[in-house]
Parts: sequence; C-alpha cells; structure tokens
Amino acid sequence: MTTENVNCLIIGSGPAGYTAAIYASRAGMKPVLYQGAQPGGQLTITTEVDNFPGYPEGVQGPQMMMDFEAQARRFGTDIRYGVVTAVDFSGYPHKAIVDDQHEITANVVIISTGASAKWLGLPSEMRLNGHGVSACAVCDGFFFRGQDVAIVGAGDTAAEEASYLANLCRKVYMIVRRDEMRASKFMQNRVKSLPNVEILWNTETQEVLGDNEVVGARVKNAVTGEERILDVKGFFVAIGHKPNTDLFKSYLDMDESGYLLTEKGSTRTNIPGVFACGDVQDTIYRQAVTAAGTGCMAALDAERFLAMKEMELHEVQTA
Ligand code: NDP
Repeated sequence: MTTENVNCLIIGSGPAGYTAAIYASRAGMKPVLYQGAQPGGQLTITTEVDNFPGYPEGVQGPQMMMDFEAQARRFGTDIRYGVVTAVDFSGYPHKAIVDDQHEITANVVIISTGASAKWLGLPSEMRLNGHGVSACAVCDGFFFRGQDVAIVGAGDTAAEEASYLANLCRKVYMIVRRDEMRASKFMQNRVKSLPNVEILWNTETQEVLGDNEVVGARVKNAVTGEERILDVKGFFVAIGHKPNTDLFKSYLDMDESGYLLTEKGSTRTNIPGVFACGDVQDTIYRQAVTAAGTGCMAALDAERFLAMKEMELHEVQTA
C-alpha cells in the first residue's frame, strides 16, 4: 500500500466536485480530485442540457463536463482516475483508500459522489443488463433504432427518455405503476402527445424475457390482473436514483434513503472537516446548477475549516 498526504481531497467528478475543485484550487488549497467509476458523472449520459446558465444555445452533457474539467485543470486541480474504495473518518487527518491500494490522508474531504440509477430488482433484469436492458436511453437508445422498446417509470427522467426513444424507435411502451405520473405537467403533455408512445397505466413488470438478449417483457395490470407480453427488443428502466454513499455508512449521518445529511445552510457533515455537495446530499433539487452551487459552498466551507485549524494550531504553539 502506497501512502500520500494531501490537503484537500475531492471524491467525485460531477458538477459539484469540479466546482468545488475550481474554488479550492483558486483558494490555494491544492485539491486532489478522484473521478470515480464514471468520470463526469450522470451528465455524461445526457444529451442536450438547456437549463444551465451561460449556454444560451444549450450544450451536450458530456461536453459540459469536459468544460468543467478543463476549468478545474486550468487552476491546477490534480485530477486523477481512481475510485475511493474505503474511508476512515474516525481520527484526524481523514483517511481514504483509492482502488484498494493507495492510502491518502487529507486535511479536508469534499464528497461529491452523486447518485446512481435504481433497478426494479428482477433477476431477469439483472441477467439481461447490457443485453437489451439499460438505465440510460440516451446511451443505448441508438441500438434500437426502428424497433419497439419499453421504458419503466413515470418521473421527469422517464418522460424525457420516452420522448427521446420515440424519436428513434418505432414504438415505445411506457410502463407506469400508478394511474398517474409524477413527471411535471409539461413533460407529461409532451409524452402523451407522441403518437408512437403507448402509456400502460397501473402496470408492473413481471419479467424481462430472453436468454442472451431481450425478446420481450411480461407485464401485468394491477387493477384488472390482465397479463400481456410486450414484443420489445429494448427494456429501459428510469425509476430514479440512489445516492452513492455506501462507503460512508459507518461515519456519516444519512436519511432513510441514504442521502448525506448536512447542517442547514452549509455543506458540513457530522464529521468536522468532511463536507458533502451535489446530488449525494440533495433530495429535492438535483440539478446540475444546484450541484455546482453546493460545490462552491463546500470549497468555501472547507477553506474556512482549514483557516480555523491553522488558527488553533497557532494558538497552541504560542500559548
Ligand atoms: P423520480 O424519483 O422523480 O421518479 C421515479 C419514478 O419511477 C416515479 O414515477 C416512480 O413511481 C417510479 N418508480 C419507482 N420505483 C418503481 C418501481 N419499482 N417500479 C415502477 N416504477 C417505479 O426520479 P426521476 O429520475 O424521474 O427524477 C429525479 C429528479 O430529477 C426529479 O426531481 C425530477 O424532477 C428531476 N429531473 C428534472 C429534469 C428536467 O428538469 N429536465 C429531467 C429529469 C429529472 P411513483 O410515481 O409511483 O412513485
């Protein structure tokens, strides 16, 4: 195991992590940022982003994340490939292990690990994952051009992805478990207006069919009990996300869904010197711009923490 001491460790590379990196670098905190398993985070699997201020013509998600990264590099952030596989916040400085082989001690840690797609939990869904089952229409919709597909979910993501798929595919079944959608009225109206989208209300997926690739899906209407086989080649799941916080379970306070809890109006967690920003602590807004905003807050909070630490040390030395 190799060891290294850094001043500021940032875990995660979405809008929150990179914004924290930009601010921390400019404040002379010499941040080291580990990108995690999905460099750039969830925006790298999106297409058009039209609601991030400063891009009047819109921007592709992956391009936006390259812009964030370039800006952080410009101010000297040490950006590295690698996944933090363990942490120890029981003492000070804080410890993190990268890829099970490199130990880092850090004076401050900024957590921006984001959230990951949720799955239905069906064995057939897991088995066929990557063979027709996907949680990202934007990444994989292309493979089903001109074919029939299904998408599960009724939030903004599902509505957005159903519209995206409708552009590419012949027919899109949208599988909604209740008799209404959670998506915003605008998104609902959009998806309902598409002639090749059929919404299946009160419907649950029983099984994704196929041995080596998806050949259909068996669904059941929860009200009538009627079962039906959908003749689809692609099966998309868009039922929300889970915060990436398993790593921090022994140390950090979380809500019942696993989102990190921060002190009101700040990014401070229950452990001094550990800060959380972006989707990992946001159950409400979950937007790129709000993630970036809290990334800025985390760097400023961390800077203040380091200044306090230095003052304490100075007082001890001069006492
Ligand atoms: P949401 O949590 O908003 O919605 C998840 C959906 O999946 C719900 O309709 C839920 O059903 C359904 N669902 C959950 N579990 C299951 C299951 N086991 N079987 C079937 N259906 C299930 O997640 P989203 O990812 O859609 O959105 C997250 C946030 O991001 C929201 O705040 C959203 O507004 C925002 N967003 C904004 C966008 C934009 O502004 N352009 C685009 C995309 C997302 P039920 O309703 O019955 O609980």
